[in-house]
Amino acid sequence: MKSLHPHRHVDVDALRLGSALMLIAQSGQPVFADAQAPQDYVQSVIDALCDLSSRDPLTGLSNRRAFCHVMEQELDRVARLGDDALLLMVDVDHFKPVNDVHGHLAGDKVLQQMAQRLLTCIRPMDSVARFGGEEFAVVLPNCSHSYSTVVAERIRQAVEAQPFELGDGKTLSLTVSVGGAFAPQWVRSGVSLWVERADRQLYRAKKEGRNRVCLEETFDTVVSTEEKELLYGALNLTGLANGHATDPEHHTSVGQS
Ligand code: GH3
Ligand code: MG
Ligand code: MG
Repeated sequence: MKSLHPHRHVDVDALRLGSALMLIAQSGQPVFADAQAPQDYVQSVIDALCDLSSRDPLTGLSNRRAFCHVMEQELDRVARLGDDALLLMVDVDHFKPVNDVHGHLAGDKVLQQMAQRLLTCIRPMDSVARFGGEEFAVVLPNCSHSYSTVVAERIRQAVEAQPFELGDGKTLSLTVSVGGAFAPQWVRSGVSLWVERADRQLYRAKKEGRNRVCLEETFDTVVSTEEKELLYGALNLTGLANGHATDPEHHTSVGQS
């Protein structure tokens, strides 16, 4: 008789896991021993590979791929719930000379410390990633407009406040420029557009002299009950199916003041 799930039973020994296991071993992650049930073993290999593909090996932060996924989810949440979500792009000022003068290894050390310092500035609900090179990105869900300047300034000051260890007892003071933009409320937007807007502010911070924060001017995007009703009232299909429209207690007609 033919199995309902032809791929259900996999011969683990026949899988070519060699390169995957080598990568995982190099990263120092454990996989379950062979003695475990085969599916647990394969699952642990898959989990370790997923972790590897979402992390930056130098700093241990999320990489750009994983971060883009976080941003997509956040944009989705903002569009559904109208929360405020802030994206900050953080770029180290004059980082190239660090490599040129002190060597690439010293530069790597700085990037690792920079990652740790960023982590001390954010809330547990926020996400920080190495976006590329010496550029980091932070997404702050549920971030009020007044908090946006506080957190961006906190990051800038945390970097400026304490020199970075270069090895051999040497230290170096550095600064960062920060650009930020809020996700647009009530409008579905793409990740690349959000990044582009934050990047534009980062460029402005660089142009205006570095070691500063530039946040996009935000419009008053508070949506009235009437507007929400216009946007989502028509979606209240359950009430209509039951033979009555939206709850009259909570219904606000358009134009009512
Ligand atoms: P600006 O203030 O305009 O940002 O100047 P900058 O020197 O920081 O910017 P630039 O883009 O000219 O240089 C970035 C440097 O970052 C160049 C590159 O060698 C270095 N870099 C990128 N990734 C790494 C890395 O993983 N390790 C080290 N050590 N250096 C890196
Ligand atoms: Mg830079
Ligand atoms: Mg850069």
